[in-house]
Amino acid sequence: MHISIIGGGIGGLTAALALLRQGFDVDVYEQAPELREVGAGVQVSANGTRVLFALGLENEIMSVASEAGGKEIRLWNTGQTWKLFDLGPLSVARYGFPYVTIHRNDLHQVLAAGVRRIKPDAIKLSKRCVAMEQRPDGATLAFADGASVRTDIVVGADGVHSKIRECLFGPDDPKFTGIVAWRGVIPAERLPKHLLRPVATNWIGPGGHAIHYLLRRGELMNYVSVVERSDWQVESWSVAGTVEECLADYPGWHEDVHTLIKSIDTPYKWALMLRPPMDVWSRGRATLLGDACHPTLPFLAQGAVMAIEDGFVLGRAFAAHREDYAQAFASYEAARNGRTSKIVRGAEANLGRFHNAALKDPCLAEAYVTSEWDEAKVKERYEWLCTYDATSVAMDGKRVA
Ligand SMILES: Cc1cc2nc3c(=O)[nH]c(=O)nc-3n(C[C@H](O)[C@H](O)[C@H](O)COP(=O)(O)OP(=O)(O)OC[C@H]3O[C@@H](n4cnc5c(N)ncnc54)[C@H](O)[C@@H]3O)c2cc1C
Repeated sequence: MHISIIGGGIGGLTAALALLRQGFDVDVYEQAPELREVGAGVQVSANGTRVLFALGLENEIMSVASEAGGKEIRLWNTGQTWKLFDLGPLSVARYGFPYVTIHRNDLHQVLAAGVRRIKPDAIKLSKRCVAMEQRPDGATLAFADGASVRTDIVVGADGVHSKIRECLFGPDDPKFTGIVAWRGVIPAERLPKHLLRPVATNWIGPGGHAIHYLLRRGELMNYVSVVERSDWQVESWSVAGTVEECLADYPGWHEDVHTLIKSIDTPYKWALMLRPPMDVWSRGRATLLGDACHPTLPFLAQGAVMAIEDGFVLGRAFAAHREDYAQAFASYEAARNGRTSKIVRGAEANLGRFHNAALKDPCLAEAYVTSEWDEAKVKERYEWLCTYDATSVAMDGKRVA
């Protein structure tokens, strides 16, 4: 069986590696001329490192990642700090795997090297898929360079603007959230020492929040912030803004936040869109994974981790149903759809929490944070994310939340 994956992002490469390890013949078609991720970091919680380690990537991941010692909340104006939870050795003790923060490009390179070790020419670059046609006995993919490929199975791992999703289910209808996100990566040596603790920090304020954490063994700081504003509605990862514009979005915020923003060379901005979770991801000989089928707001830090889990579970589903792709798709969706929908809704719910109007007044904020980030509530919101095990979830077609 020949499997064609459209999109060589984090999800597509994880799926390729998982399927190659199960003995399938796989090619990845990526539109970019070189395999390079835009500068930004991702947090990979224990449910994600569990998968990466199962793919044999433990040493390479740990050599380029930072390990978060914990998470904390800080108030936008006073800088008052609350511990959210401990990570570091506790993540390993509790879930068996570490919570890492990693540069997207580092993660990407580790995954690509894993794929190429098994099939050196599996990743085809400058291959933008423009159309897909299905027949009962296979599918044909057409590319912008005029080439076409016949294949048995198609996996659309082509991100939020997925062409494969459009071919299967028609155009989507995203709704603008009224929120713009900023991001940048900062060399650690530009920052004061007190900002370099290995803790993932979430500044919360009325109408906005900001997150920062270390990457690449502490050599870099990742900065992401969001703000409620309606004058920018371009959903792209590569549109540059300016430091001045970013600063202007956070008037009155703590000087630590301003120090971070001023240390970024080029901040990038994009509009956050909402898309309701899809009930069905597969049709005929094609399926979807990652942002192509469950794009999420980034407020649970699970988008890339979901794509990683999807890729691994897809590999297991095909291994369990080698002769029956329809059954493989059914098992894959059953193991993934309920969980990913719940994550998408949970991330949306965090928006009201992070930007709450009560945070304006430090006296009200104290009571609000103590109540909303109460230990039991935090456990309920986060524990189930980390305990899910993509390496052992049943492949029997029963829906898992
Ligand atoms: C502000 C922000 C912060 C985030 N933080 C986190 C975090 O901390 N933790 C986390 O887990 N997630 C995080 N995410 C989410 C995460 O980045 C995405 O969910 C993840 O990148 C999805 O992976 P993917 O492989 O599905 O899609 P992508 O990474 O978008 O990859 C899609 C690939 O397909 C290629 N492609 C697209 N169209 C075509 C085509 N027609 N033909 C060929 N190739 C094509 C693209 O070039 C790209 O390489 C964050 C997202 C945002 C916006």
